[in-house]
Amino acid sequence: MKESLINKSGRHFLQIPGPSNVPERVLRAIDRASIDHRGPDFAKLTFRLLEKLKWIFKTSQDVIIYPSSGTGAWEAALVNVLNPGDKILAYETGFFASMWKQLAETIGFQIDWVESNWRHGVDLDAIKLKLEQDTNHTIKAVMVVHNETSNGITSNLFGVRKVLDSVNHPALLLADIVSSLGTCDYQHDEWGVDVAICASQKGLMLPPGLGFNVISEKAKIAARKSKFKKYYWSWEQIMDLNKKGFYPYTPASGLFVGLNESLDILQEEGLEAIFKRHADYSKATRIALDHWGLENYCKVPEQYSQSVTAILIPDGYDADQLMAAILERFNMSLGSGLGKLKGKVFRIGHLGDLNELTLLGTLAGVEMGLELCGVPFNKGGVQLAMNFFTSSQT
Ligand code: PLP
Repeated sequence: MKESLINKSGRHFLQIPGPSNVPERVLRAIDRASIDHRGPDFAKLTFRLLEKLKWIFKTSQDVIIYPSSGTGAWEAALVNVLNPGDKILAYETGFFASMWKQLAETIGFQIDWVESNWRHGVDLDAIKLKLEQDTNHTIKAVMVVHNETSNGITSNLFGVRKVLDSVNHPALLLADIVSSLGTCDYQHDEWGVDVAICASQKGLMLPPGLGFNVISEKAKIAARKSKFKKYYWSWEQIMDLNKKGFYPYTPASGLFVGLNESLDILQEEGLEAIFKRHADYSKATRIALDHWGLENYCKVPEQYSQSVTAILIPDGYDADQLMAAILERFNMSLGSGLGKLKGKVFRIGHLGDLNELTLLGTLAGVEMGLELCGVPFNKGGVQLAMNFFTSSQT
């Protein structure tokens, strides 16, 4: 039986940390007939996009676009540059680092896993020690999640590159920038990342459906030597056909049109302004939660994420119940606790197409939800966030 849908007036507040809200301009751009993905217009679009993407990733290197989610792009990075059974060093920053590890193990890599408590980013000393001990260079790659979406923690990715260089270790640096791109600085070439993994549904403000690998010269050479069996993910075929503006299979052409528009929007605003805006949303969120008397899951202030904040619910309360009440009463979706954080944290996504009022509405929804659910807290966090936006601090 078809469930009857009752319209809820006003806009749904989608404040999960991705998929993020899609700007009207992108929605209008996507709302058109499909184009011939083997025709001249599509080729022109591909060339334009591959050039524009270099700007956002801060690279002069190749960008591969897949019709995939971020998970596909994770797998693609591994199977293109490594050989079956290779050892990878990885750090447990949170749920997504753990998922990536699981994927890598499942498809046959050995993981040297540095365990951690999910409350801070990559410990550079721990990485350094592992690399120093690896005198025979058995570690072929280091996997790092730049921004852990599960707990709102950003790691010092450039620091990992510096550690690799300081001990002269040749391992490739593979970085997940799924929820950092377009919200805080990312410099592919400058930071010496060999393969970056990204997806369309966060800072790029698109619906899910595009996965990206951004590669380095060193990664390209490793790819030529890789004996891992692959077909769909193989960069070689894609890079070959990209020279003519095409893909070896049907690309997500509708999303290509949207990506063209979203990159225009991002270019018009400028990266520095975008990063500043995200830093302000993140700060305003922390001002509110500090006043509420709740705890930020991230323990290290320099590692606070600009795209998402994970908030611990006091003992004896259930974050999932709070989120359900907020959805039911105020039509707002927040991010739930993932893995071992289920029921313990809720996450406020503050990335992509939003402004101060969207954030204040979000914080107001949380503040009202806390009250309705009887969670002990101090009222007035939203007012302080408002004060922040009108103060000279922004
Ligand atoms: N990496 C990070 C940091 C993510 O936040 C996500 C998803 O939210 C993924 C990887 C997995 O991407 P997807 O769900 O698009 O497969």
